[in-house]
Amino acid sequence: MEKKKKDLFLEQGEKFVKGVLYIVSTPIGNLEDITLRALRTLKEVELIAAEDTRRTRKLLSHYQIHTPLVSYFAHNKIRREKYLLKMLGEGKRIALVSEAGTPGISDPGYSLIRAVLEAGMDIIPIPGPTALISALGVSGLPIHEFVFIGFLSSKGGRRKRELQNLEAETKTIVIYESPHRLLATLRDILEIFGDRDSAVARELTKKYEEISRDKVSLQIAKFTAVPPRGEFVIVVEGKRTS
Ligand code: SAM
Repeated sequence: MEKKKKDLFLEQGEKFVKGVLYIVSTPIGNLEDITLRALRTLKEVELIAAEDTRRTRKLLSHYQIHTPLVSYFAHNKIRREKYLLKMLGEGKRIALVSEAGTPGISDPGYSLIRAVLEAGMDIIPIPGPTALISALGVSGLPIHEFVFIGFLSSKGGRRKRELQNLEAETKTIVIYESPHRLLATLRDILEIFGDRDSAVARELTKKYEEISRDKVSLQIAKFTAVPPRGEFVIVVEGKRTS
């Protein structure tokens, strides 16, 4: 059995490493957005550490993958890391997946990545979707240079201070936001940055995908008229220098 798996990895021109953690990107909505290599990796590893086992199970059953799953999320990560390091130490190959997109991007994963590296073990990337790159690519704003913020603080005062620190940034700015804070954040952006060009990407790769490219003030008007629902990425132009 082990030999067969090894042969499969070698056939793909991959090095066969024992005790390795694969960082596997998974779809941000559309289940077809997964690479052949990600599917093969999820099939071939001994264990998948998943942020949301229910969502990952849905993905796995769609592709008839039966690899065992363990949960790995914010509140059990310290305990789980010990277990995962032990399994890696025994030569197991483990895939880390988050609820959606790329693990570690505004998702748990970083602390496991550090722990694995500190233990002197291998990490291999299996690239794929991430909401920030998908949104940036269709924003129509300059994409040769950008800064990714992830989520701003949920606390109003702190969020404003974070935005004040970004006000002089000349690169395009990418922010993740939840539907119930979208309007408050857009209002703070308008107050602190002024009325810049922006794109609000909603439900990317899903049925209600929508990309709204407009001045921040008009985005506010739109989302006041039709309350925001779903998942959002805000892309704002950097400060103009001329
Ligand atoms: N790891 C993920 C990635 O690689 O993009 C991000 C996870 S973070 C917990 C979830 C946030 O990502 C959402 O609140 C939203 O801002 C953004 N996001 C994820 N999927 C999205 C989608 N399909 N459309 C728009 N934004 C999305």
